[in-house]
Amino acid sequence: MGAIELKAVEKWYGELQVIKGIDLDIKDGEFIIFVGPSGCGKSTLLRMIGGLEETSRGAIVLDGTDVTDQPPSKRGLSMVFQSYALYPHMSVRDNMGFSLKTAGAPKSEIKEKVEEAARVLKLEPLLDRRPKDMSGGQRQRVAIGRSIVRAPTAFLFDEPLSNLDAALRVDMRLEIAKLHRSLETTMIYVTHDQVEAMTLADRIVVLDAGQIAQVGTPRELYNSPANLFVAQFIGSPK
Ligand code: ADP
Ligand code: MG
Repeated sequence: MGAIELKAVEKWYGELQVIKGIDLDIKDGEFIIFVGPSGCGKSTLLRMIGGLEETSRGAIVLDGTDVTDQPPSKRGLSMVFQSYALYPHMSVRDNMGFSLKTAGAPKSEIKEKVEEAARVLKLEPLLDRRPKDMSGGQRQRVAIGRSIVRAPTAFLFDEPLSNLDAALRVDMRLEIAKLHRSLETTMIYVTHDQVEAMTLADRIVVLDAGQIAQVGTPRELYNSPANLFVAQFIGSPK
């Protein structure tokens, strides 16, 4: 399960309000994209869902349970960032298995789960390599693999492809779409790239200065943008 509800969620940094009352129902298995210009609050909102930022007001509910005050480790979510934070001198296998190892999982189980994730991401030939000897795209696949191993109830991606060159970004976009189809796990994906949003999302959430400007399928947003901001951002003809 991976249904996520945001209820009147707000974030204040002192006097500065950066998230201004967001309500959103994300269905189990949905691919949701948060899109919007730099500084509109995408990362903050994602980090609040993941528990890396405190929620100032409102509630975050996972599968019916209020997790607003729970630490990240209790939420069962996996976050993937644009910087991979892999251990450069550890093998891919050890990087991917690290969280299970620290959780005390038996060796046989770690091996099985790491190899299954490696199969899904076609990382099998790289399992004994070290991240320092790999390309940016390969490292990003390992970072995603590491999050799959934990079998999260949802994946949270914060601009995971923004450090990659354009060609690789297109490849990885297809990989992520495939991954979503095969795992059927809820994904919330932050990007400022309209093309990425239009090609990956079941529904797009357009954020404007900490508020939702519009929520809809890519087609809905393109055909009936709610206002000029959305139209200009999505690039629809209106
Ligand atoms: P985005 O990811 O859409 O680019 P962010 O969520 O990073 O936007 O930032 C939203 C707003 O919150 C910005 O105005 C940013 O300057 C502000 N902000 C982010 N983190 C902090 C912080 N730790 N303290 C104060 N302001 C912050
Ligand atoms: Mg950001």
